[in-house]
Amino acid sequence: MMKCPLCNSISERAFKGKGIWILDCNSCGHRFAEITADLGHVEKTYDDPYFYDGNAGYADYTIEADQLRKRGRQYAKKIKKYVEPSRMLDVGAAAGFILKGFQDEGWNGIGLEPNASMVEYGRSELGLEMNIGTLEMFDKNERFDLVSMIQVVGHLFDPQSAFESVRTILSHGGWLLIESWDRDSFSARILKKHWPEYSPPSVLHWYSHKSLVTYLSGLGFEEIACGRTLKKISGKRAKTLLQYRLGLKALFSLIPDSLSLPYPSEDLFWALFKYEGTD
Ligand SMILES: [Zn+2]
Repeated sequence: MMKCPLCNSISERAFKGKGIWILDCNSCGHRFAEITADLGHVEKTYDDPYFYDGNAGYADYTIEADQLRKRGRQYAKKIKKYVEPSRMLDVGAAAGFILKGFQDEGWNGIGLEPNASMVEYGRSELGLEMNIGTLEMFDKNERFDLVSMIQVVGHLFDPQSAFESVRTILSHGGWLLIESWDRDSFSARILKKHWPEYSPPSVLHWYSHKSLVTYLSGLGFEEIACGRTLKKISGKRAKTLLQYRLGLKALFSLIPDSLSLPYPSEDLFWALFKYEGTD
């Protein structure tokens, strides 16, 4: 049986999601997919079809540009009372729209993204500084005041080394912003194994707000603020998700692509952590 990717303890199979076993750690309770993921997994999972062809990923990621940029601005405003705009690293930046939103609010920084086409888009269309790669493999010479991980922690193929990288690139007193799904949310508890976020292999880890806070506090990150995420998605994205999850293509084809729909965010949270380091 696979060992827990957070604490290396013994785990047990809980149930299957999309045909893949999902395991629970016997010691820390972390929930994760029975997949031995590495860089090859990342490259395969986040190839161009992930962003453009639908299925588990995005029908056309760039259609959501305005909403993502707005979310970047919203987060920048939310955290303003704790941290002044300075230098940031946005992990899993995709085309860089969220980073662009932060830039609108005075931040500057780098977008880190494994998909080369997305990186190219961010550079050429948005004028952003973008690096191809993952946090696990990131060259750690530069220091940042903020690391943002918007819907990223569930996808990390090696969370221990990824958060080790975050500790290295944040100076003491630096900030970590995370948005993630909550496996203890109302809908996750009601839907159990049918909760749509149990969708390996693109998602590999399922945290609750509480479990993430507990894990990160052991690494020297203290939660300073948190909340629920309100977001809107395009009609096209909604259709893709509904078709993928429910398989009712004809019915949902009536939704216009350009429509902006509120998306239930009861199972999505954000949290801002301050890195104080460990002794
Ligand atoms: Zn564990």
